[in-house]
Amino acid sequence: MKKGVYIDGKWRPGNGAAFTKHCPATGDVSWEGRSADAAEVAAAVASARAAFPGWARTPVDERIAVMERYAEEIGKRAASIAEAISRDMGKALWDSQAEAATMKAKIGVSVAALKERAGERDEPAAFGQSRLTHRPHGVMAVFGPFNFPGHLPNGHIVPALLAGNTCVFKPSELAPSVAEIMADAFAAAGLPEGCINIVHGGRDTGAALIDQPLNGLLFTGSAATGVFFHRHFAGRPDVILALEMGGNNPLIVWDPADVDAAADIAAQSAYLTTGQRCSCARRLILPEGAFGDAVIDAVAARARGVRAGAWNEPGIFMGPLVSDRAAAQAAEFYQMLLSKGARAILPLETGAQGTGFVSPGIVDVTEAQDIPDEELFGPLIQVSRAANFDDAILRANATKYGLSGGLVSDDDALWARAYSEMRAGVLNRNRPTAGASGAMPFGGPGLSGNFRPGAYYAADYCAWPQASQLAPKAARMTAPGFPD
Ligand code: NAD
Repeated sequence: MKKGVYIDGKWRPGNGAAFTKHCPATGDVSWEGRSADAAEVAAAVASARAAFPGWARTPVDERIAVMERYAEEIGKRAASIAEAISRDMGKALWDSQAEAATMKAKIGVSVAALKERAGERDEPAAFGQSRLTHRPHGVMAVFGPFNFPGHLPNGHIVPALLAGNTCVFKPSELAPSVAEIMADAFAAAGLPEGCINIVHGGRDTGAALIDQPLNGLLFTGSAATGVFFHRHFAGRPDVILALEMGGNNPLIVWDPADVDAAADIAAQSAYLTTGQRCSCARRLILPEGAFGDAVIDAVAARARGVRAGAWNEPGIFMGPLVSDRAAAQAAEFYQMLLSKGARAILPLETGAQGTGFVSPGIVDVTEAQDIPDEELFGPLIQVSRAANFDDAILRANATKYGLSGGLVSDDDALWARAYSEMRAGVLNRNRPTAGASGAMPFGGPGLSGNFRPGAYYAADYCAWPQASQLAPKAARMTAPGFPD
């Protein structure tokens, strides 16, 4: 794949730096090409700007029809989407297939959300009527993360286009291939040229994009990048920012009858997609004593038994991390925890050199000092033991993030406490922390975002409300002290 820039419905090779992505399992080149340079980024934004008035004026039912055709086109390409994602970032094929299915399902959910949250309403008034409608912002820059390189940008682009915006999408340089298939699907669906433009590349391309005249920036990625964008747009209330960031997510397991079920939930929370989901549990909070010990043993048994392999190996649960660099960083993070007094339960170890493989790890940080409140985007869970349930909730909330969390417990009273006291935008009971519903909002307080949740609530940040008072004819106005 050698397509670098998609402007006005046409691919060009790109004039910026060349870059390559390798499959982290096999080392095979999965994408190679050039990035967009600053002039091409400007041309992409100009293309989106030129397309905006026509697309915004297109009746909403026609926009919906285009997007429904896009859903069909995504469905036809599901197999190639899944393979492109897996080759680029290494996740198991079943996991990428689920991502492709979610991309298709996004359209129906987004149409429902548009109608419910950003639709139109008329109400009678003494002077005639009041009307509420919603207007698109204009040109939206969309930044995607590598871990769901199709689904998450799609989750911004689909609601943005439905609302009448146009987009410039910068895919993750760690998983660029799926963007090209999305562009083909949009073209086949009849989306007018210029409504979606794509600029490949890394930070330089991203930096060029945020310096363009944008009306919005829709971002999913790390807290560090999100905070950087937030600073960049400080003093710019005219630019809508939707920042979906990471988490340091807690899972409390408190005396459920079925230890094995609890361990399944904990292990899947920690290790799904090799721990590369923003909603993965990073911290496992357990009571002191025999029950907590049994949960640790059962989670460790599952971690040891997890099957890892290349994306197309049958029967694997997870693939490698996205790159050998990510694997080295995960191993460093694990060692850092040990250096701060954490106790190894199951070491996180790197696999063959040059690959992204790491084994799932478990550490006990109860006695450790100065553990940083950071997200390690990999398969490592930090256990901490709580003296009582109050202590467990305190530990769960001891983070500046607030994305996801959970309680595994059969006790309704404990759940009632967790439900009201745990600070997380996605808060589950007896379910993994990872794996959210697209029909719900997705986001959380603290460093996990800027209170513009995505998924079902993406409709809210893709349009602004306009309220009107409508009188059929101009009529004389009266008021106390106002001359007749
Ligand atoms: P990242 O922040 O490194 O990169 C995201 C995008 O921003 C990429 O396109 C990248 O090129 C671009 N970027 C990064 N730094 C930039 C800069 N200085 N200037 C311009 N562009 C820049 O994130 P990632 O590593 O790709 O993704 C993993 C992160 O995403 C994790 O922290 C995870 O928790 C988070 N995430 C959040 C959600 C959510 O919905 N809240 C979902 C998935 C992933």
